Amino acid sequence: MRFSPIPRTAAGRDALVLAVVGIGLWMLIVFLNINDVWDGLLSHQNLLELDELFDVAAFTGILGFIYAYRRLRDLRLEMQKRSQVESEKEWLANHDPLTLLPNRRALETLTSQGVNSQSDKRYVIYAIDLDGFKGVNDLIGHQGGDLLLRAVADRLQQGLPDSTVYRLGGDEFLVIAERQEGVDAGQAGLQLLKRISAPYDIGGMTAEIGASIGFALYPEDGNDLDDAAHCADVAMYVAKRSGRNHVYGFERIMEDQVLRRAETELALKNAIREGLIKPYYQPLIDLRSGRLRGFEALARWQTGPNNYVPPGDFIELAEAAGLIGELSDSLLRQACRDAARWPEALLLAFNISPTQLLDRGFVEKTCALLQETGFPPKRLELEITETALVRDTETVIAILTELQNRGVRIALDDFGTGYSSLSQLSKFQFDKLKIDQSFIAGVMSDKKQEDIVRAIMHLGKGLGIVTTAEGIERNQQLEFMKDLGCDIGQGYLFGKAMPADQTLDLIASFSKTEMQRKIAG
Ligand code: C2E
Ligand code: MG
Ligand code: MG
Repeated sequence: MRFSPIPRTAAGRDALVLAVVGIGLWMLIVFLNINDVWDGLLSHQNLLELDELFDVAAFTGILGFIYAYRRLRDLRLEMQKRSQVESEKEWLANHDPLTLLPNRRALETLTSQGVNSQSDKRYVIYAIDLDGFKGVNDLIGHQGGDLLLRAVADRLQQGLPDSTVYRLGGDEFLVIAERQEGVDAGQAGLQLLKRISAPYDIGGMTAEIGASIGFALYPEDGNDLDDAAHCADVAMYVAKRSGRNHVYGFERIMEDQVLRRAETELALKNAIREGLIKPYYQPLIDLRSGRLRGFEALARWQTGPNNYVPPGDFIELAEAAGLIGELSDSLLRQACRDAARWPEALLLAFNISPTQLLDRGFVEKTCALLQETGFPPKRLELEITETALVRDTETVIAILTELQNRGVRIALDDFGTGYSSLSQLSKFQFDKLKIDQSFIAGVMSDKKQEDIVRAIMHLGKGLGIVTTAEGIERNQQLEFMKDLGCDIGQGYLFGKAMPADQTLDLIASFSKTEMQRKIAG
């Protein structure tokens, strides 16, 4: 460092100037002999002795010094206070007050600074979104939800060594961890998931949640931490869309998927708002009498004059995008209005997504809709698949029971395709059991399928539940199911799903048709 005679600080420069001025004045006083002039003047005026004047000056100087010292001390305290307030403000701006974790702003500051390019540190970034937090929050209340979020934050902080956990908002977290030699990032992600999913004790209540986790590696997946965090987020998005409790590592192809999905999601949202998704109706036939028993409403998204997207391509998307409630409400409202024009004996069967049954307000919403459209609850049959009963069984059963108490029938759809079909039957008294079309398809050609269908029919009869065979396409299948005593038939043999106005034509012509004679035998 080079020596400079001029001090760097303002205080130093002030002191230097004052010293130079002081020495100059003193030299002037000595040179001009001002003391004697003063002395003469004072003694001539008979005012003060010179030594007394010095006393006054010294005393004033000391008082001035004390005053300056006290002012300086006040100033220092004020500055300390200000810097404390500043740092508290800074802390609050960079932290989440609930979990005390650094927040999104802190993450942005970190990522904008960039990783020191000299450093050879390697990181893994986990983007975490809790699954089912909203449901638990509704169940245990907001205070309970806050406690749960704090508990999750604690578990995440203890999850990985050399890591920082951020809460990005709501139920979203991000973990940046230094990569450890020999530790697989995917396995570590699964461990994090296991930690999060273990039960929580919230004020004596047990709560369980899951998580969707996406992870990305730095420097492999991103040039900087910001880039890598974005990749982790993309992977998390894909994990979330694939269902609950998945851990996905980032792959380049995911970016395209996310983009396409976002476009479809937007198109779906617009289609729902513009009423482009409408219920079509497939006839349900009484296999004993050959009479029409009602119709099942099946959603169709019209994208062009003769172009329809089947529900298999958008129901899941609507569920994942949180649009299923809105879509289902608009379909059910329309279906009730259409069905109100049918003869009173005809039922309306309507499909419900599992996620809708996690909403405790579902019963009230459905009943309000029935009242609004004037459609009687006893003519409505809601179809649920067994996945609805796998999650949060107690809540779902409470909702289904309440619906049944109000007169709505509940059918178990696609029976036999899930992994716990039988156990579902012991949990709830269904009004109807719909044998999945995959069994009916193989019933004439595959002895095993035939045996399974026989067994299901036996089960339904034993439990006193009405049975429906889905996907009847051929006469042999119809005859076989009739012989087994199946109650209701549905399939292309009787008719595909049709627009509302065609149902009226079908109803009018049905009793005169060949079909009825043939079925009734
Ligand atoms: P699902 O409730 O089991 O409906 C029966 C499906 O089988 C319908 O397919 C129907 O067109 C088809 N199908 C009926 N008869 C035959 C047949 O003889 N042969 C063959 N190969 N297929 C037949 P779709 O309309 O594509 O619906 C698929 C699934 O989408 C439905 O299965 C249901 O789970 C779901 N879905 C449809 N509409 C809605 C809705 O409004 N809300 C919800 N949440 N789900 C819906
Ligand atoms: Mg169905
Ligand atoms: Mg089905």
